[in-house]
Amino acid sequence: MSWVTRDKNVVWHPFTPLEDVDDPLMITGAEGVYLHTSDGRKIIDAVSSWWVNLHGHSHPYIAKKVSEQVARLEHVIFAGFTHQPAIELAENLLSVLPENQSKIFYSDNGSTAVEVALKMAFQYWYNQGFEKKRVIAIDGAYHGDTFGSMSVGERGDFTRPFMPFLFDVDYIDFPYVDNQHEVLHQFETWVSRGDVAAFIFEPLVQGASGMRIYDGQFLDRLISISKEYDVLCIADEVMTGFGRTGELFASDHLKNKPDILCLSKGLTGGTMALGVTSCTEQIVEAYRSPHLTKAFLHGHSFTANPIACAAANASFELLMKDECKQAIQRISNSQSRFVDRNRARPNLKDIRSMGTITALEFETENDSSYFSEMRNTLYPFFLSRNILLRPLGNLIYVLPPYVITAEQLGQVHAAIEEFLDTCP
Ligand SMILES: *Cc1c(COP(=O)(O)O)cnc(C)c1O
Repeated sequence: MSWVTRDKNVVWHPFTPLEDVDDPLMITGAEGVYLHTSDGRKIIDAVSSWWVNLHGHSHPYIAKKVSEQVARLEHVIFAGFTHQPAIELAENLLSVLPENQSKIFYSDNGSTAVEVALKMAFQYWYNQGFEKKRVIAIDGAYHGDTFGSMSVGERGDFTRPFMPFLFDVDYIDFPYVDNQHEVLHQFETWVSRGDVAAFIFEPLVQGASGMRIYDGQFLDRLISISKEYDVLCIADEVMTGFGRTGELFASDHLKNKPDILCLSKGLTGGTMALGVTSCTEQIVEAYRSPHLTKAFLHGHSFTANPIACAAANASFELLMKDECKQAIQRISNSQSRFVDRNRARPNLKDIRSMGTITALEFETENDSSYFSEMRNTLYPFFLSRNILLRPLGNLIYVLPPYVITAEQLGQVHAAIEEFLDTCP
């Protein structure tokens, strides 16, 4: 029996119908920017395997550090115990996170990093006897697939079956250039009620809703108003973290810094699952008590797994090298030149870039949602050219690992331009 048949018998894949879909591609290995298939193809991973990969696949330095760690200490309970990789990683992260951040709480993925952030914020108020229970989020947000993170995300086709189980959240409209006045008014009306615990946002770029970019100065104003009204600000940097927007963190583009930050995806260079929620000393203060009831009673079996932390420390070292910073700059420049020379295409509704990320939205006759038929043209077109671009409906984006060479990125851009030349 073939591997794919065996897969179909026993495996259930994410975001994938169980009937009438193409067979999954069997990947036998990966190196640098390439995924190797069982039939001998080498596919450029232009989406960093769901936005997680930073330095290329199977990176020898990360592999070495992981294998050293697994032979020394593979895992230990993180309540009452600690270890070198977790301490070093917290120090590493705090040395580059916005200056107001003071503590690192570990979990194991992006959704749990957001869950932790929300619970941390709710209990911050609870511990001090305040009745602040509401959350404000931005229309179109994506914060993960667990119940808390779904609750603060966009409500739609993905969340409909779960709607009765999600808590109430107030959504401000997505801030475009021409509605900022209204959004500001909406926001001020809600925060001034005094019952808002937190404002959660994907800083500067909303990922899953289509790499939607918005004005950092406007976000700065929202954060500044939040501080005026004692509303905690949670920056979900699960996608934007670790250089994607050109700066190390999207929050580095801002004057006003968030109280809580969520990290995952690129944290381990895409090697292992790990989540981080960082926060300010002000938040920690509300938990400083010898009473167990004031403690943050949250944890996961694999909290701060030493192998995952070792992978993250190795990835951090690579990220801090001049070579990597230059690659981020080179990719950002190349993406913005690509956007400039394709701005006038009649078959594009929009084309935009932010740092190393580029997105193209196609004109469609009817459905422009995630369920757009366009996906069925786009995905195979690029895959047949050995390029992995996973469309979000009528939109494609390029979010490459930083090891992609100028030539390989040129190949991706050329394939997109070929599509633009040939599609109606
Ligand atoms: C992917 C993503 C998450 C969820 O992370 P998982 O590791 O997939 O649970 C949360 N927030 C943002 C902004 C993301 O892009």
